[in-house]
Amino acid sequence: MARVAVVTGGTRGIGRAVCESLLRDGFTVVASYAGNDQAAQAFTDETGIKAYKFDVGDHEATLAACQRIADEVGPIDVVVNNAGITRDGTLMKMSFDDWNDVMRTNLGGCFNMAKAAFEGMKDRKWGRIINIGSINGQAGQYGQVNYAAAKSGIHGFTKALAQEGARFGITVNAIAPGYIDTDMVAAVPDTVLEKIVAKIPVGRLGQASEIARGVSFLASEEGAFITGSTLSINGGQHMY
Ligand code: NDP
Repeated sequence: MARVAVVTGGTRGIGRAVCESLLRDGFTVVASYAGNDQAAQAFTDETGIKAYKFDVGDHEATLAACQRIADEVGPIDVVVNNAGITRDGTLMKMSFDDWNDVMRTNLGGCFNMAKAAFEGMKDRKWGRIINIGSINGQAGQYGQVNYAAAKSGIHGFTKALAQEGARFGITVNAIAPGYIDTDMVAAVPDTVLEKIVAKIPVGRLGQASEIARGVSFLASEEGAFITGSTLSINGGQHMY
């Protein structure tokens, strides 16, 4: 039977490309989304992939939704923690809500999904947890103390959970994308975007499919010896 992969925020952008890539790899794929029903419906109509609406930042709602997915689709073998938001602003202008929304969604979501899926993976001695971090979690970014902290936290979360999962056949890795051509980046003003692209050695934004192939590799059988690592896919913008 095909393994089941759940991609949070899978209905748009990078998540959608990840869903399509994992589907091609032979996984049974399920997406989650937060509230954009129209995008979710179009996604399901076009791909045939089921989409479940729940807030990954809500612990109880996430546990309940994952139980529903397990009952309706099958036990969860792969989690791709991709759902993420921005609420940018300098520290002086950032409200506590801006801070908290980003922390609970981007970092809290990883904890909630892992809590829901880890035990079953452990029982079945196989699992893949792939967390989507960010170049801005590695290097920091002006006006993003919330986002950079949450994404940086994802990288620590990944390394710690990798140690807990290793002897049960569960790998835990992160991907740190650079700037990718999605709705999130479309929200960046053109003048700012031009300056960003000028700093990318390959001279362009990345494509969602270029992140998706990285996820596919980490989810594959061949990825079994990779755990606790971060794969940077950023056109050479940040190297270390
Ligand atoms: P998009 O804004 O295009 O899509 C975000 C997806 O996440 C949507 O499906 C959205 O659902 C879902 N989502 C948002 N909040 C929640 C929530 N609380 N619960 C469940 N789902 C939620 O994002 P991208 O594709 O650009 O980004 C995907 C990931 O990659 C994010 O984690 C982002 O931080 C990261 N990233 C992106 C980069 C980029 O350049 N684009 C660069 C580096 C990292 P809905 O449609 O209902 O709103």
